[in-house]
Amino acid sequence: MGAMAVDKNPTVLRQLRYGNMERVLEVLRRKGPSSRADVATATGLSRTTLSGIVGRLLADNVLLEESAPLDGARAGRGRPVHRLTLNPSSAQAVGIEMGRERLRVAIANAAHEVTASGGVHRPNRGSAREQADCALALLRDLAEREGIDLAGLSGVGIGTPGPGETTGGGTGPLGDAPGVPRHRQSVADRVAASLDVPVLADNNTRLAALGEAIWGAARGAGDALHVTLSYGVGGGLVAQGRLFRGAQGAAGEIGHISVDPEGARCWCGGHGCLEQAASVPALLRAAGRRSWSRFTEALAAGEERACAALERAACAVGRALAAACSTANPQRVVLGGEIAELGPLFLDPAEAAFRRYTAARVSRGVRFVPAALADRAGALGALALVFHESPLLAGYPTRGAAAPGVADGASAVAAS
Ligand SMILES: [Zn+2]
Repeated sequence: MGAMAVDKNPTVLRQLRYGNMERVLEVLRRKGPSSRADVATATGLSRTTLSGIVGRLLADNVLLEESAPLDGARAGRGRPVHRLTLNPSSAQAVGIEMGRERLRVAIANAAHEVTASGGVHRPNRGSAREQADCALALLRDLAEREGIDLAGLSGVGIGTPGPGETTGGGTGPLGDAPGVPRHRQSVADRVAASLDVPVLADNNTRLAALGEAIWGAARGAGDALHVTLSYGVGGGLVAQGRLFRGAQGAAGEIGHISVDPEGARCWCGGHGCLEQAASVPALLRAAGRRSWSRFTEALAAGEERACAALERAACAVGRALAAACSTANPQRVVLGGEIAELGPLFLDPAEAAFRRYTAARVSRGVRFVPAALADRAGALGALALVFHESPLLAGYPTRGAAAPGVADGASAVAAS
């Protein structure tokens, strides 16, 4: 295969360029500041190729070239040694979550450290174009405020609600994947065109599962099931450190496991789904309360109807988790969302029901943990999608501990 084939296929050319660039960055991540000669040796790239890549990375501010302090023996002799180092203020990847009620952005540098994150609470309505522009405005505000340079950006991950498989936007490697909601594709295309980088997009709850697996409550557990119990019930399955999607991209959708054979028809087409028994609206209906705050007040007062409703929901969650864990056999079950945030009042009966309905061998190996990243999980998962699953970038965050402590500029960043 000659150069002609490469020229005809911009994706292949782009992957080749990104591949070599990523090899250079990987060496600097691993070895720290290094001379050009050391980078050439470690990557096996020719002087000419390396010079082109380094020139571009310096121009984009991804790398800095510094004069190394000379040691005594070499002082005053020969030329000073120049060393290449990763610029901590340059963004390599961006993660965006457009939840139903919030918009969040996280930025990471080439050392795979999360350098900024922020967000706004707002309903994500309007056209795909408006939503994408809003996210881009938030990203640019955040970058400007934190002094982060976006010129060297290599990829963006986006999480949006709704089913469907991973999709690539615009210049992305996957093109127009079938079965992807048109809205998600349009958002990805708009962001890709505006920033001129590849974009990967996926379901936001599934990305939260990946975020918790890389940076949060399931860190270090290769196999984890993530469940969000909120206004809907969503989930994601991480197997051997990667998102497991299944044939239709619906793997881990625990909210639509049937827990009541006599149950009403669900919007998904099934009957008696977990979401109809253990979501916020289901609890409010069962307890006869109008708002979540009224419901939690009733629980705090020990009101019988509210407590019984929560107990029934916890049992339903435990039984559904028993079915899911018997199939997937994870090490951790991560529980997030308003209902899980009620704490032991909900988690204890849910876990008790789970243990009752699960084979001892599976049950023994599973630990229940509350979600750790709160509403940052989706945006961090979108970052992990770029680092961890993109065909363009090798490797994944190895300094995950940096994420939970990252400064959060939520209140200071305004949406446009
Ligand atoms: Zn359903």
